[in-house]
Amino acid sequence: MKENPLAKRLHPIYKDVVIVGNGPSGLSMSYVLAGRALTYNGRSHPDAILDAALRSTLQKDAVITESDLSSLAQCVESRGGSTPLGHLLDHLVRPGADAGLRLPPVVDWSDHPTRSLSHVVIGKGPPGGTWKKMDGRTMTLSLSSWMELPGLPLHESEVGKKERVTAEGVRVATSTIADYYQEYVHKMGLQKYQRRGIVTSVAEYDDADDVENDKKINWVIEGRDLHGRKFRYLSKYVVLACGTNDSPNRLGVPGERLPWVHHSTKDLDEFLRRQNPSKEDGPVLVVGSGLSAGDGVLCVRSHGATAFHIYRGKQGLSRWLPLTAYPEYLSVHELMTGAATCPTYRGTGSLRLARCHNGANGRRLVTLESSEGNSEVLEVSAVAILVGSAADLSFLPRDDLGLQKGAVDPRSNPLDISLTTHQLNRLANCYGVGPLAGDMFVRHILGGVVAAATHIQKTIRGIN
Ligand SMILES: Cc1cc2nc3c(=O)[nH]c(=O)nc-3n(C[C@H](O)[C@H](O)[C@H](O)COP(=O)(O)OP(=O)(O)OC[C@H]3O[C@@H](n4cnc5c(N)ncnc54)[C@H](O)[C@@H]3O)c2cc1C
Repeated sequence: MKENPLAKRLHPIYKDVVIVGNGPSGLSMSYVLAGRALTYNGRSHPDAILDAALRSTLQKDAVITESDLSSLAQCVESRGGSTPLGHLLDHLVRPGADAGLRLPPVVDWSDHPTRSLSHVVIGKGPPGGTWKKMDGRTMTLSLSSWMELPGLPLHESEVGKKERVTAEGVRVATSTIADYYQEYVHKMGLQKYQRRGIVTSVAEYDDADDVENDKKINWVIEGRDLHGRKFRYLSKYVVLACGTNDSPNRLGVPGERLPWVHHSTKDLDEFLRRQNPSKEDGPVLVVGSGLSAGDGVLCVRSHGATAFHIYRGKQGLSRWLPLTAYPEYLSVHELMTGAATCPTYRGTGSLRLARCHNGANGRRLVTLESSEGNSEVLEVSAVAILVGSAADLSFLPRDDLGLQKGAVDPRSNPLDISLTTHQLNRLANCYGVGPLAGDMFVRHILGGVVAAATHIQKTIRGIN
């Protein structure tokens, strides 16, 4: 009898590790699981305490995970926004970077094929994660050299050469980083591990389902590919590398789902390109007090349109960044605080958006309310609600994630993980990396990646 092709497609595929998410965290994880390790090269580290600790615990050319990374991490002063290992690895890869030094790393990547594990990286969009969804004209907050993934300096990549990125590092357009991450997958031979699709369920494997299970399967991972076809993986380990930007926050006001109400700067930019609204169409209403809203204002003004900006508080953008280093955000901050004025910007901290609605003759209207309860109706060409975003982990039971009430937040509400292994404390064989686990910035992702990969590799080899 002929085999049903559909049944063949749905047949589960076994992998040692399934990685959910193909942003910087998922790609770095794949690079390490493909059989790479970090070795100590014996160069001096400018931090004398760390330098001494490295020399006393590691031989030159030793794989660094042969030493206890958690105790090494105690040598570096911890900071908010990253895990101790995230901070340590950043110090090893970019010695003295925070002090403005540009020194070569004290660790190097080397190939260790015996450490490689079968794995798949599943991502909703093209490799690069959230960077593929940004308005490519906005600039990175970080220097380009802090955005690099293991093994490929940005200035040595084709993208970096084309954009004339220097080794010292400069702020670059986010599109440069998105292109670099895409190139990274090809250059590092990681294409074969990539799969496009959305993971819809990660469930513990029920042994009773399969009496022939000789692979010690722990997880069943299900999802759909781009064509809506279902897929199913069985694995020993799952790594959550989904980032915290998948679901734009919503205000929950009536009319928020109207097609002219946007929730990302990229969508707003595409709208403005398509529609090129005139003054008569009304301003673009931008809602939000953070950097995304700042990006929204900059986007509107770059198209020659007028921004009507409503936000909370009187601080402008100063609480987010040292603004002198970020002239574009400084310009928005000055408009918000009244230190500067401009005919294409009007801002207020005393109104809130109550409703978006269609008026007669296709007019787009918003109702704004003051704290005293007065309301006014304004005609707009579009609305951009830019009030942050959250992770979407609906494919796992929330109780297992060890979260406090509310959404995952890298600073205040990360996944409950072991800081030594990045394994979830309430879910064995499941790991969290990147912002989900408390490492907000790309430069800090590597610590969790190395910790998780090493723990998985050692567990498989029976070393733990
Ligand atoms: C506007 C903005 C500017 C930023 N600027 C900087 C900066 O200058 N420097 C810096 O270091 N950091 C910056 N960051 C933070 C940076 O984006 C993150 O640190 C980094 O992208 C995290 O990488 P990640 O791989 O963990 O997550 P992400 O980059 O978010 O990638 C995760 C991917 O997983 C996918 N995914 C999620 N759920 C599923 C699922 N169920 N199935 C399949 N795929 C799924 C998502 O769609 C996403 O593509 C910025 C963030 C934003 C929003």
